[in-house]
Amino acid sequence: MQTRVCIIGGGPSGLMLSQLLHLQGIDTVVLERQSREYVLSRIRAGVLEHGFAQLMREARCGERMDREGEIHEGFQIAHDGKMDRVDLHKYSGGSSVVVYGQTELTRDLYEARDLMKGVVIHNADDVQLRDIKSVKPYVTYRAGDEIVRIDCDFIIGADGFHGVSRNSIPKTVLKEYEKVYPFGWLGVLSRTKPVSPELIYAKHERGFALCSLRSQVLSRYYIQVPLSDKVEEWSDEAFWNELKRRLPPDVSEQLITGPSIEKSIAPLRSFVAEPMRYGQLFLAGDAAHIVPPTGARGLNSAASDIYYLYHAMVAHYKNGDSSGLDSYSAKALARVWKAQRFSWWMTTLLHTFPDSIEYDRQLQQTELAYLFSSDAAQRSLAENYVGLPF
Ligand SMILES: Cc1cc2nc3c(=O)[nH]c(=O)nc-3n(C[C@H](O)[C@H](O)[C@H](O)COP(=O)(O)OP(=O)(O)OC[C@H]3O[C@@H](n4cnc5c(N)ncnc54)[C@H](O)[C@@H]3O)c2cc1C
Repeated sequence: MQTRVCIIGGGPSGLMLSQLLHLQGIDTVVLERQSREYVLSRIRAGVLEHGFAQLMREARCGERMDREGEIHEGFQIAHDGKMDRVDLHKYSGGSSVVVYGQTELTRDLYEARDLMKGVVIHNADDVQLRDIKSVKPYVTYRAGDEIVRIDCDFIIGADGFHGVSRNSIPKTVLKEYEKVYPFGWLGVLSRTKPVSPELIYAKHERGFALCSLRSQVLSRYYIQVPLSDKVEEWSDEAFWNELKRRLPPDVSEQLITGPSIEKSIAPLRSFVAEPMRYGQLFLAGDAAHIVPPTGARGLNSAASDIYYLYHAMVAHYKNGDSSGLDSYSAKALARVWKAQRFSWWMTTLLHTFPDSIEYDRQLQQTELAYLFSSDAAQRSLAENYVGLPF
C-alpha cells in the first residue's frame, strides 16, 4: 500500500488531521489498534476551546457540534464556603468554550471520514515504524496472519500516551518530562440533569470535586481520590455521598443522583516528550504530551498540534515550502508548555495534597482570594481557559 501520510491512531488527533488533509487532496491512511466500537465507547474530554471548535468546522464536521454543543461563557469555583464565578466572556474579550463530548466529536469525525471514503484501518495489530530517518519511511502492521506494508512520505504518531510512535525515537534523542500527582479522579457519568448549567470546580478539605456535563440530560461528576483506591470499591451511593459532602450545601441539595453509566479512575499526570519531530515522524496529541484534566487542556492541546501540522503539510505539498514542517516541534512545544503551566496551576490551586503543610494551604487560600479580587488575574485565567491563540 502507498500513501502520502500514514497516521497512527484513530483518536481525535489522527482523524482530524486525516480529514483536513483529505479535504486538501492529500492522501492519508489511518491505522487504529482498536475497533471503532471500542474507540467510541471511551468517555473522555468534554470542553472544547474556540480554536478546536473552529477546526471542527474547517474539517466540515462542526454541524452537530454547533447544533447540540452548549456555549459556556463562564464557570464557578466553590471555595471557602462561597461560590465565585469566572466570567470567561467578559475577561477573554468575548470568547467562550463549547461543551461537547469527545465521544460525540469522534463519532462526527468517523462519519465524515466514511462520507469521503477515507481509509481508516481498525484492529491494526503490531504497528511498527520503519526507516523514519530516511526520506522513504514505511509502516507495517499485522492483519490476521498477514503483514501489511504502507510506504509513505511522512508518519504521524497520533497514537496516544501508550502508543508505539514515541518509543520509535531513540532514547538518546528523546527527552521526557513527567510529574505524577499523588491522586486520581474518580469519574461518574449519569443520565441525570446536571446540578448546574455551568461547570462547578469545588475546592474542599476532603478533596477536589467537579460538576461537569455533556448535555442537559447527561452529567459528568468527578471527585479526587487517593491513587490506591479501586473503582470496584466505590458504589454509586458512596460516590454520590462523597460528592455531596464536597459541594456547597445549596448545591448538594439540588443534586439529582442516578445509576452510573460509566465509572472509572484516571490518575493525574503531566508529561511532555521532546522533540515532537524525528526524521519523517511527527508526534501529535497525547502521544507527545498529557496534562491533568483540571484545566480542560488535553484535547485542546492536541488541536493546536493538528492545526500546525495541517498547515505545514499543505504548504509542503502545495508550495514546496517545508519551513512549517521544520519549525513544527519548536512551535508546538511552545504552546504545549503553556498548557502544561496552566493545567499544573489549576491542579495545584484546587486539590488537596496529602503532603501539604499549613503554609501551602494558606497560599492556596490567598491565591483564590487574589484571583477573585483582581481583574488582571481573572483575565489571565479566562485567556488560558478559552485557549491561547494557535
Ligand atoms: C480517562 C481519560 C479522561 C480524560 N478526560 C479529559 C477531560 O475531561 N478533558 C480534557 O481536555 N481531556 C481529557 N482527557 C484527555 C483527552 O481525552 C486526550 O487529550 C485526547 O483523547 C487526545 O487525543 P489523541 O487523539 O491525541 O489521543 P487518543 O484519544 O488517546 O487516541 C489515540 C488512538 O491511538 C490508538 N493507538 C494506541 N496505540 C496504537 C498502536 N500501537 N497502533 C495503532 N493505534 C494505536 C488508540 O487506540 C487511540 O484510539 C482524558 C484522557 C483520559 C485517558
